[in-house]
Amino acid sequence: MSRCYYEILEVSRDAGGEVIKKSYRKLAMKYHPDRNPNDAEAEACFKEAAEAYEVLSDRQKRRIYDTYGHEGLKNTGYSGPGNAGDIFSNINEMFGDLFGFGGRSRRRDPNAPVQGDDLRYDLEISFMDAVHGVEKEVEITKRETCWTCEGSGARPGHKPQTCPTCNGRGQVIRSQGFFQVSATCPQCHGSGQVISEPCADCNGQGLVNRKKTVKLKIPAGVDTGSRMRLTGEGEGGRRGGPSGDLYVLIHVLEHEFFLRDGQVIFLSFPVPMVKAALGCEVDVPTIQGSSKLKIPAGTQAGKRFTLRRQGVPSLRGGSRGDMVVEVQVQTPTKLTKKQKKLLQEFDDQYHEEEEGFFSRLFHGHFKKFKKEEEKEKA
Ligand SMILES: [Zn+2]
Ligand SMILES: [Zn+2]
Repeated sequence: MSRCYYEILEVSRDAGGEVIKKSYRKLAMKYHPDRNPNDAEAEACFKEAAEAYEVLSDRQKRRIYDTYGHEGLKNTGYSGPGNAGDIFSNINEMFGDLFGFGGRSRRRDPNAPVQGDDLRYDLEISFMDAVHGVEKEVEITKRETCWTCEGSGARPGHKPQTCPTCNGRGQVIRSQGFFQVSATCPQCHGSGQVISEPCADCNGQGLVNRKKTVKLKIPAGVDTGSRMRLTGEGEGGRRGGPSGDLYVLIHVLEHEFFLRDGQVIFLSFPVPMVKAALGCEVDVPTIQGSSKLKIPAGTQAGKRFTLRRQGVPSLRGGSRGDMVVEVQVQTPTKLTKKQKKLLQEFDDQYHEEEEGFFSRLFHGHFKKFKKEEEKEKA
């Protein structure tokens, strides 16, 4: 049985949107996983609060919940925020509303919340992982909001003070001869605030370096240059600003014998000379395992065969690409005496049969060539 959303958020049933938001913010800060590492109970509270907030902050969902309770929400297909990403984007939205912080435009106000920087992570994956998809865990070091001071940089119980040098403007006026120029305040470095009692955990920075393991679900079909965006996994914000995003850039390593162009796989496949002449059936390696391919008698070097749907799956779902197999006719190199003799015998016979054809072909060619030569002379 789920707990009452109003109880979870510690608000009354007739609480307004602002009260709900404020209470949720307090709980989210208290139970945030970064602040309570490896604390399953805190994490459960954090998720519970997020779920409650998601419902109570949405007028339509709240009305359904007020009338029909949890069951009513189930019938609408709503079953709580499924993953952490939703919860965090929720928090980001909320901080945005709370502080009137619109997007990431830089505000002049030195006290305005600052969104964390986006991070880029370059990830190398194998050819096969790119083709089949893979789950990876990567460890990134990033600056995250210091939860001791909630990103303010001031020791708990103390507030950043307005900078006395610039009176909070972040800029000072300097006179140079007849001119007056505006310069960044040397005391507060433009922030407009000074921290007399800096937070011990972040040295007044509001951000701390943390290592974090991020789980990546890489879909089948990614290629070099594919980019994944993980909302809110970038660097932490300051003064209540939301986190930046993490961009993962995929680099796919080359395969020993498969080549890839988009969804199409190319393979150069060796076939012994005699087999190419007589025809055979071969097992061709594919990205999924192997596939039978019939090589017809008399197959020439460079002949291409297409194996339908043996290529790379589409990133957007849907069908696989094809695979193209190019025959590479192998000429034997280490021949025994007996093999040489057999080939010589074969050649003698082959020559007799084909001589007519070749002499006709070349004779024609030479005749034409001679004619053109004579024409030029004339
Ligand atoms: Zn701090
Ligand atoms: Zn200043």
